[in-house]
Parts: sequence; C-alpha cells; structure tokens
Amino acid sequence: MKPYPLTEVRDLTPRLRLLRFAVGQAYLWRDGSELTLIDAGAPGAGEPIAEAVRDWGHAPQDVRRIVLTHFHEDHAGGTGAFARISGAEVYAHGLDAPYVRGERPGPAPVYEDWERPLHAAALAALPDPPDDPELPAAVRELADGDVLDLGGGAHVVPAPGHTEGSIALHLPQHGVLFTGDAIAASPEDGRVVPGVFNLDRDRTLTAFRRLAALDTEVACFGHGDPVPAGAGAVLRAAAAGYPSPS
Ligand SMILES: [Zn+2]
Ligand SMILES: [Zn+2]
Repeated sequence: MKPYPLTEVRDLTPRLRLLRFAVGQAYLWRDGSELTLIDAGAPGAGEPIAEAVRDWGHAPQDVRRIVLTHFHEDHAGGTGAFARISGAEVYAHGLDAPYVRGERPGPAPVYEDWERPLHAAALAALPDPPDDPELPAAVRELADGDVLDLGGGAHVVPAPGHTEGSIALHLPQHGVLFTGDAIAASPEDGRVVPGVFNLDRDRTLTAFRRLAALDTEVACFGHGDPVPAGAGAVLRAAAAGYPSPS
C-alpha cells in the first residue's frame, strides 16, 4: 500500500495536534501518556500517522482509541492500518459503523451542481481506492450522547446530514470541538461553511447550528484551517448566514 503522506503537522495546543493530508485532516489529542486519534485519513495514512505520533514523543501504542467522525474514505480509510499498528480501539457511530467495517458500501452523497467540480478535484487528490482495503478488526458503536473517557469527558454530539452517522466530539472542559464534515473552513479564504458532499444538506445545516451553539474555544474541522480561539462566536456568526427555515 502506497503511503498517503501528511502535508502538515501543527500543534494547536500542547494537547492537540493537527495532521493534514492532501484531502482533509485528522487530529491527535493527548491526556498525559495516553492519546486519542480523531479520524484516520485515507488508505495509506496508517504509517504516516504513526510517524507523527512518534514525532510527538509517543509510541503508536499510546494511542488508545480512534474516534471516527463518519465513514467517508478520507476520514476512515487509514483506520484499519493504524489500528493494527497501534492496537487502538476503533469507535464510530452505530449508523456509520457497518460501512467502516466494510459490511457494505456507504451511500453516495447527493451532490449539489456546484459541488461536482469540487468533488472531482478531491477524487484526483486522494489515493486510488485499494482493491483489498485494510479494515479494522472491530468497530465499537457510539450512540448520541455517549461520553468517552478523554479530555475529561468527550461528548458524542449527533451531527447527521453529511452522513447518517456523522458525529462531532465536544470536550467541554477544554472548549475543543471536532466537527467532522458537518462544518468546514473554506480552503480559499478560511470562511466557516457547512460541509460539502452531504446526504442531506438541510440536515447538515441543522447540525451546523446545533454545533455552533456549543461552548467552544477551538474548533477542529475535517477540512480547512481550525479556528484556534473564540470559535463559538465565529461558528454562531457563520451559522447565522444559514437561517433555519421557519
Ligand atoms: Zn465526509
Ligand atoms: Zn471529508
């Protein structure tokens, strides 16, 4: 399997490291000697992620869990390889877990016309899908409202619309929010926008508004630069541009 290299590694806080690929981002969260990986890049990302863990002064085995925000290939494709390397447990929402396990192909997004050229560009930047993808040996299923034992309690916030089982992960003690693809930052100007390539754009907008209401200092998106400070206000201002239908 050809490696899918990182294009940038950046520490957002002493506990939070951004891992950027050609398409999309993953994050490492640190609790003392224990790490959590949020999303795992595309196929081929396993070894590059392990390298970023070592470079942070840890062993891959320090990564106890991989939490997937949703099943899409650019977020879940590296899961099997990194889980094998690290021994980490894999978590995904129950509605997306079957696709992460490879039990069946996930549903394709409903593309808006203006999204088609974006999608073609993303496909061109992603590695070719492997004939025989490395799947995680086991995937634990998350439910809305679950609290994971990291960052003083990480809340699983439902964010369906991008996919049925899309989640965000909110760490209230640290004001950190991982939005997955419910929210993104535009690669052109950093503007905070709803994610693209959704199953249901209206539901993605509802999720966007729900996430914007959370108390957040640092917002970490699946695509585009994170908001490093005062993120709640930035997200609420962005969400106000997409008013709920009345
Ligand atoms: Zn996605
Ligand atoms: Zn994505």
